Amino acid sequence: MEIVEKIYDVIVIGGGPGGLSAALYSSRADLDTLILDAGLPGGQLNNTEKIENYAGFSSISGSDLAQEMYKGALQFGAEYTFGPVDRVENTNEYKQVISGKKIYRSHAVIIATGSENKKLNVSGEEEFKGRGISYCAVCDAVFYRNKEVVVVGGGNSAVEEGSYLSQFADKVTLIHRRDQLKAQKILQDRAFANDKMEFIWDTEVEEIMGDSFVNELTLYNHPTGERSQFKTDGIFIYIGLVPNTRPFADLGILNEEGWIETDEQMRTSIEGIYAVGDVRQTALRQVATAVGDGSVAGNDVFNYIQSIKE
Ligand code: NAP
Repeated sequence: MEIVEKIYDVIVIGGGPGGLSAALYSSRADLDTLILDAGLPGGQLNNTEKIENYAGFSSISGSDLAQEMYKGALQFGAEYTFGPVDRVENTNEYKQVISGKKIYRSHAVIIATGSENKKLNVSGEEEFKGRGISYCAVCDAVFYRNKEVVVVGGGNSAVEEGSYLSQFADKVTLIHRRDQLKAQKILQDRAFANDKMEFIWDTEVEEIMGDSFVNELTLYNHPTGERSQFKTDGIFIYIGLVPNTRPFADLGILNEEGWIETDEQMRTSIEGIYAVGDVRQTALRQVATAVGDGSVAGNDVFNYIQSIKE
């Protein structure tokens, strides 16, 4: 193991909107800040075609907003390094952040690792991943030009991404296990008005089948108890999120579902460890809420560092 010599004031784990905002605030407050990221700067923004509910932008592409946030976060001297985090240890003196063979040390840690798409956990899902099964329309829609695809789910993601897919595919069938959608009304209205979109209600996908590529699903309809086969060229799964909190499991800061609980200042139950954005137990997971969380934590961490250095 290599111990990185520099001791940072703050290590931000994750470079999505929450992490980048936290780093912007902490570095602007003159704290030595390191962002450790495991993907592209901007996180899930890069998987989003357009954002139209972030104040200041009537409509902006996810990747453009990611670039702007990244530039903004580094303008006051925060460092950015690629380094998936394996573990965080809370020693008496420092927080230790272990990434591969490196140990980074800091006085405070802000966890901003977000969440990832939940799996259906049905037969064929592992086998056909990347061969007709996708969790990212922005990444893969182009492969389905003039084809017929299925979207599973009833929340904002399924409805929004279904609409996006309809720009490429000939037909998008949204399959939902309830008889109504949970997505925001404006997204529902657009989807219902889209003549390329169809809806199958009260139905679950039980099995994903194919040869070299997905070509058929087994569906189970609740009210009737009937099973049926459904031909499709691809399936996009948007059934919610699971938190990226495995590296923090030993810290005792996760709730039963694996999300991190914080107070209003984004402080976890461990002094000097904060959590922001989608990884947090929260009622709303949006770019704006992640940015707000990051700003609050990036501000509060300044007070914390002052208090321990006095
Ligand atoms: P979500 O809001 O949690 O919705 C998940 C949907 O999938 C629900 O309709 C749920 O049905 C269904 N589902 C869950 N498990 C399932 C299973 N095993 N089989 C079949 N269906 C299942 O998740 P999301 O749509 O991925 O959104 C995640 C977060 O991002 C949310 O907070 C959302 O508001 C946010 N988001 C916001 C925007 C926006 O503001 N424009 C866009 C995208 C995402 P039940 O109701 O039956 O549980």
